[in-house]
Amino acid sequence: MTGFDFDLFTIGAGSGGVAASRRAAAYGAKVAIAEGRRVAGTCVLRGCVPKKLLVYGVHFADEIEDAAGYGWTIGPSSLDWAKLVAAKDREIDRLHGIYVKMLQDSGVTILDGWAQIVGPNEVRIGERTIRARHILIASGGRPEKPAIRGIENTISSDEALDLKTLPRRMVIVGGGYIAVEFAGIFNAGGVEVTELIRADRILRGFDGDIRSHLTTEMSKRGVAIRAGVQVAAIEKSAAGYRLATEAGEIIETDLVMYATGRVPNTAGMGLERVGVTLNKRGAIAVDEWQQTTVPSIFAVGDCTDRVNLTPVAIAEGRAVAETLFNHNPIRMDHHNVPSAVFSQPPVGSVGLSEEAANAIAPCDVYRAVFRPMKHTLSGRDEKTMMKLVVDRASGTVLGAHMVGTDAPEIVQGLAIGVKAGLTKAQWDRAVAIHPTAAEEFVLMREPVKQSAAKAAE
Ligand code: NDP
Repeated sequence: MTGFDFDLFTIGAGSGGVAASRRAAAYGAKVAIAEGRRVAGTCVLRGCVPKKLLVYGVHFADEIEDAAGYGWTIGPSSLDWAKLVAAKDREIDRLHGIYVKMLQDSGVTILDGWAQIVGPNEVRIGERTIRARHILIASGGRPEKPAIRGIENTISSDEALDLKTLPRRMVIVGGGYIAVEFAGIFNAGGVEVTELIRADRILRGFDGDIRSHLTTEMSKRGVAIRAGVQVAAIEKSAAGYRLATEAGEIIETDLVMYATGRVPNTAGMGLERVGVTLNKRGAIAVDEWQQTTVPSIFAVGDCTDRVNLTPVAIAEGRAVAETLFNHNPIRMDHHNVPSAVFSQPPVGSVGLSEEAANAIAPCDVYRAVFRPMKHTLSGRDEKTMMKLVVDRASGTVLGAHMVGTDAPEIVQGLAIGVKAGLTKAQWDRAVAIHPTAAEEFVLMREPVKQSAAKAAE
């Protein structure tokens, strides 16, 4: 390692950076990781994990309500929001400790502070200049809000996870993963939620039936989803906040949350100065090996703004470590990455939407919409939707989508079949597990007529 302090210097101790650093250290590399905030990153500290704990927390409302149909009488119940948030914080602290220990046990040197790249093999952190054979940028992303008047009066998902009390009313702006998930959490927690979206439907990019079905189910639960609304300005009022829409309407509320996307954390790191190319949104351009325009510098995860999901960042990070330190070159495959939206009810999705598939080749669409067995007795008016998109010529299942209880758990299994390129006939050879909701995925015999006809045109 002549002339270098470290074989790998990682900037950012989130999911991607930690995975790459530990894997590299396991292969004998001398590794340092710099973190300016807290080790563990967005997913563990400000994203997936705390969000999912809150989803679990508020979901008890459903269970309590549904129990009545099964003969239960449950006394007065209420949610102590502050207690839930405190419990969530304790778990996040525990996980933070585990991440620190995992890095230490792997022999990775943890450096507190913001690192700046000063040369192709040089990083400055505080007063120290460190020479590294390879540099890995895994600096993640942060919430982005439009520059409208009064935007400073709004919160993002960062603050939403730490609210100590719940407002009576809340407006959430945006229709993506984060907006939809938080609308579900706060609505189930008893808040009157209005979700303002500028498009016609939530969850752009997802299958059209998912978007429509989830809109219906969220609306039934009381979330007021208002399409085609653009906020022009936000004003603090004596009672709360006043939103002025571009159409001239005034909406009064007690709290405003913006979930209008995230931007890569790449500013102020000296990247352009050393020759790392960034795109217009500040994302780091990388090739299939996660290599930037400077050969010794690599980047993974949200700072590259490709598929911004934790397991993708982890896989990218491990691919870099395998390639550099284990003579095992791995290119990350971004096709058929499954994802979930932890809405109420949740969404699971893998592969192509009907719209995307139809743009490529004629497809058959299989769809089942049904009332889950649990709700025959609970009386809950909620329907599950399952859908398969199949290439007509080859029979390959191109996409599997679901809205309903346990959709993320179910679709994770289906992702194996879609990734493996199985045909519908192979899929159908699997025997159903009865009685489950998931069995519908191997029991859908006939394509739904209208979609099949549309694809054939
Ligand atoms: P998304 O990119 O998913 O959605 C952004 C939303 O904000 C869209 O509905 C978009 O509308 C809207 N929007 C953007 N700009 C404006 C604007 N100026 N005014 C009004 N609306 C606007 O971002 P999120 O913040 O929800 O999530 C960020 C990323 O985090 C996602 O890409 C996802 O990868 C990841 N994530 C994943 C989760 C999971 O896997 N469960 C959970 C949470 C986050 P339009 O549709 O019209 O463009």
